[in-house]
Amino acid sequence: MIIVKNREEIELLRESALIVSKTLGALASEIKPGVTTLHLDKIAETCIRDYGAIPGFLGLYDFPNTLCMSPNEQVVHGIPNDTPLQEGDIISIDCGAIKNGFYGDHAYTFEIGEVAPEIKKLLDVTKESLYMGIAEFKFGKRVGDVGYAIQKYCEDHGYGIVRELVGHGLGKKMHEDPEMPNYGRRGRGKKFIEGMVVAIEPMVNLGTHRIKQHRDGWTITTRDNKPSAHFEHDVALVDGKPELLSTFDYIYDALGITSDEEAPFRAHQSTN
Ligand code: MG
Ligand code: MG
Repeated sequence: MIIVKNREEIELLRESALIVSKTLGALASEIKPGVTTLHLDKIAETCIRDYGAIPGFLGLYDFPNTLCMSPNEQVVHGIPNDTPLQEGDIISIDCGAIKNGFYGDHAYTFEIGEVAPEIKKLLDVTKESLYMGIAEFKFGKRVGDVGYAIQKYCEDHGYGIVRELVGHGLGKKMHEDPEMPNYGRRGRGKKFIEGMVVAIEPMVNLGTHRIKQHRDGWTITTRDNKPSAHFEHDVALVDGKPELLSTFDYIYDALGITSDEEAPFRAHQSTN
């Protein structure tokens, strides 16, 4: 059952999403060769608690840490450890926070120093596909329209779309209805309605879409051990259109990147 949110609840979800955005921004300036994912995990936990929130993943389904940290061939759900990041690696960081009983859930794949051009391209295309999916999240469209947009764009680039893990509704629970697959058929699936809030999160592999689960019960890797990228935004359907609750701006500020990619999906500006 889809739980629609009123304006007040959407603002609370925005507050939670922005705590995650700021936490990812704080991590962005710390990510460099030699840093361990466990160190970054501690920074994130402190940051989230300083905002008066609770880490959203810690203890959820018994996950042991604040962040899911998935380097290189890991797709999602990697567990932070004491292995230092290396020049040329990528690291997908998925972060959750709870405040006022509402979840934020937001992810970004970072580059460690200089990465190979084909990997950089994978990250660019995955992030572009996220915005193509978000653009379809509007009144009258359906779950399959978002999935189709993401799948088409990524497969046209020769990449594999992970099937087993999907986006989701977001609210007082981390995972609400509907499931939001990153593949699908146009005009199929549940219809979008005013007040829905979803996490859209393409997980895209350089090679095969197939995955395997690590013995730790959490870590998901690509079956061919080629790299995988993951970007995630929280989005509300307001006045029939997609409105971003999360932002990559804090990451871009930290990294000195200029981007207007979020402009079409920002909250309506007040005129006074
Ligand atoms: Mg997430
Ligand atoms: Mg999610």
